[in-house]
Amino acid sequence: MTTQTATLDRLNAYDVEAIRKEFPIFEQKIYGKPLTFLDSGASAQKPRQVLDVMQTYYTTEYANIHRGVYYLSQVGTQKYEDARVKVQKFINAKSPNEIIFVRGATEAINLVAASWGRKFLGAGDEVVLSRMEHHSNIVPWQMLRDEKDIVLTVAPIDDKANFLFEEYEKLLTENVKLVAITHISNALGTITPIKKIIEAAHKVGAKVLVDGCQAVPHMRVDMQDLGADFYVFSSHKLYGPTGVGVLYAKEDLLNAMPPYQGGGDMIRSVTFEKTVYNDLPHKFEAGTPHIVGGIGLGAAIDYVENIGFDQISAHEDHLLAYTLDKIQAVKGLRLISRADTMAGIVSFTMDLAHPHDIGTILDQDGIAIRTGHHCAQPVMDFFDVSSTARLSLALYNTELDIDRLVEGLHKVNRIFS
Ligand SMILES: *Cc1c(COP(=O)(O)O)cnc(C)c1O
Repeated sequence: MTTQTATLDRLNAYDVEAIRKEFPIFEQKIYGKPLTFLDSGASAQKPRQVLDVMQTYYTTEYANIHRGVYYLSQVGTQKYEDARVKVQKFINAKSPNEIIFVRGATEAINLVAASWGRKFLGAGDEVVLSRMEHHSNIVPWQMLRDEKDIVLTVAPIDDKANFLFEEYEKLLTENVKLVAITHISNALGTITPIKKIIEAAHKVGAKVLVDGCQAVPHMRVDMQDLGADFYVFSSHKLYGPTGVGVLYAKEDLLNAMPPYQGGGDMIRSVTFEKTVYNDLPHKFEAGTPHIVGGIGLGAAIDYVENIGFDQISAHEDHLLAYTLDKIQAVKGLRLISRADTMAGIVSFTMDLAHPHDIGTILDQDGIAIRTGHHCAQPVMDFFDVSSTARLSLALYNTELDIDRLVEGLHKVNRIFS
């Protein structure tokens, strides 16, 4: 079978209408119009399977975990730790000890900067970022720079939003101790050659942190294959609840790192003279965790695994090609996202209308897109814009969503001409 027919077969089996019915948000009308949701890159909608698991936990299973000897506490502990194992298998980590539950990707990066960074980085050590990082993968390193006199360098992109691998390689000197780079750009959709990026960094002895926020909802990621030292993502972009995210880190790194916060759950014993820390992964999870969040994330992983990433990627890739084809017919539209390898995120501007106006006019027809700098101002500066309009695709989007968007963009032109 050719690859093309294989892809088509997968798409034919993909019942997007049935999938949409699993998302209660689509049952309502917005201003009397069907909801066209094209902002999943900011946060994805939640399927009933996830909502039900969370509701059941709060309704009939609720208690604090990791402490109680009684029935409910043990059920909760089991479910929370089962969710950790689901995450481990989902990203093919070696051990559940390598999965730290945090509040989100932002907290995960801050944890690495505050714990690993403070201990292992010193004056003159270099951290390589890329031009298209989210602010969450810039600011924690700047804060550390101000404290420890480390040096930040920036791997460039070209004007089509491609990551420039050879330019990146030139930055890799023996001073580089960490590379912190996104897997898929949230502002542009560019898929970076992350495996090559990691291999090249390891050759000079640097560790690598990968920002996987936009990758995990779109494609299968495999820690043992990639070899990343740190990999971070948020549940809420993966069809799970807000307030929970994942730091993956290799076990030997976590063992060598000091705790990030002190308090309950992360201790083995406490006296006023001395505290002995708990084992992994609890050493990094101070305080009562977001129990239902972790359980909800586990349900979201079950949900996407059940559909399958072959199908999800094929569906989203097909829709991306459809979008790029249709959107170019809109007069005066400047495509910012033009990388050779892209996932379903498309940034653009229009000659006649400011992105904010585009977003406002589309909203009147129930179409939700993102407008602004997408928490990535340095990459906006590179393209010499202060903001863009951005659509992002998810497993529940359809060609009809794109047709409605394109119709809305023609309307923007009519209003502003
Ligand atoms: C959303 C996002 C973040 C930040 O995630 P939070 O859930 O807000 O902590 C970081 N990086 C990328 C690429 C993102 O898309």
